[in-house]
Amino acid sequence: MDLYKLGISEAKKLLDKKEVSAQELLDSIYKRIDTVEDRVKAFITLPKEKAYAMAEASRQAIDAGKPSSLSGIPIAIKDNMCTKGIRTTCSSKILSNFIPPYESTVTSKLGAQGYILIGKTNLDEFAMGSSTENSGFFTTKNPWDLERIPGGSSGGSAAAVAADECIAALGSDTGGSIRQPASLCGVVGLKPTYGRVSRFGLVAFASSLDQIGTITKNVKDSAILMNIISGKDPFDSTSAPVAVPDFAKNLGQDIKGLKIGIPKEYFIRGMDKEIEKSARDAVKKLESLGAIPVEISLPHTEYAVATYYVLATSEASSNLARYDGVKYGFRAEGKDLMDMYMNTRAQGFGAEVKRRIMLGTFTLSSGYYDAYYKKGQQARTLIKQDFETAFNQVDVIATPTSPTAAFKAGEKSSDPLQMYLSDIFTISVNLAGIPGISIPCGFTSNNLPIGLQIIGKHFDEETILKVSYAYEQSTEWHKRKPNL
Ligand code: GLN
Repeated sequence: MDLYKLGISEAKKLLDKKEVSAQELLDSIYKRIDTVEDRVKAFITLPKEKAYAMAEASRQAIDAGKPSSLSGIPIAIKDNMCTKGIRTTCSSKILSNFIPPYESTVTSKLGAQGYILIGKTNLDEFAMGSSTENSGFFTTKNPWDLERIPGGSSGGSAAAVAADECIAALGSDTGGSIRQPASLCGVVGLKPTYGRVSRFGLVAFASSLDQIGTITKNVKDSAILMNIISGKDPFDSTSAPVAVPDFAKNLGQDIKGLKIGIPKEYFIRGMDKEIEKSARDAVKKLESLGAIPVEISLPHTEYAVATYYVLATSEASSNLARYDGVKYGFRAEGKDLMDMYMNTRAQGFGAEVKRRIMLGTFTLSSGYYDAYYKKGQQARTLIKQDFETAFNQVDVIATPTSPTAAFKAGEKSSDPLQMYLSDIFTISVNLAGIPGISIPCGFTSNNLPIGLQIIGKHFDEETILKVSYAYEQSTEWHKRKPNL
């Protein structure tokens, strides 16, 4: 059996019954990485020695008859979450030698459950992008077509899951960075409600939008990881004191009578025909399972991308002020302090990060604050209210995840605006702070995955997981694997 192909729950069964050891599973994953990684390029760091030490600890727990929920499960972590003693770069030259002295809350929670950190995955620098082409190191390839991008910014995590280079992964999502790459790589990506998962130790991009979530081979694995990473954290004052349900509990329940909103603004003239057809077919499938589609309107959708790029860049310009050559990572020489700051930032940041710092500094400057930042906040409220109104009528909302399937490397990298539009269907969810998931719902004629996005009410991940599971169990899309 090819152990690397397993998901979390299947692997756990074999491990707990001692049919497979944690070392064997880890060997299989690293062997797979050896075979495909020079083509996929999902990982920045592979801490093998530490991983084998973690596998040994898992073996002992399993042998003692005390396995935890992730004992021996190899998981990949996006390289913007701090891992104590293991380099955390954010794919930026400015953090290329940064070794965190502390652990992020999510990875400590996974650690407490016995996971094995197999590697830190590639991303667009500081999670700014939709293709991993903004990585300061290299571009990750889409396992379904190596000439194409895997999406981004969590492209490394999504590609690693799709290529079976790990059992599951974590990503972060500020405007679509979990859902869009999950869609483009044919895997499941969940962005939880803002505040559901602690951001402590997640390197900040736009703090009011960032949220850590899961990238997995199936819906159940997402629920399993959500059970572990969710909850109030004293180290993150924005994490919410909301009870954490058992996210796996409702999986398998039927969805009869559940109302699914179909926002007319997300099915626009001129959109990619294959994407539209797959999304509409997915809605029909849900209808055949007993759900009731309802046309709804989210009238401020057209302002979402602009609103996001004002607010996200404003927050980024402030968050990235801390990289000055003194406190963290890379430092360039300079004739005096100011010169050192300027050289460090000029050499340490890539073009997209600089573009956003400049844009954000402009929108926050005293003469323009009211016209841009304040206006952006007002538009954000309207977008949030659109969802509140819609959720008075429906239980969940279904849309395509991305307007296109995976595009070719280089196709959009010289046109930032085109790149920004990749997140047109995912961004509003972050602005509203609600949860959204992308699940595989079809393939284009050239065999590229297509994703369906299901959006839920605040803190109602349970329902979107239930709907996703019902869809997944009645379709075969998630079973297809890329030919690598
Ligand atoms: N692609 C969007 C951006 O470039 C979203 C990124 C993200 O979610 N981290 O900002």
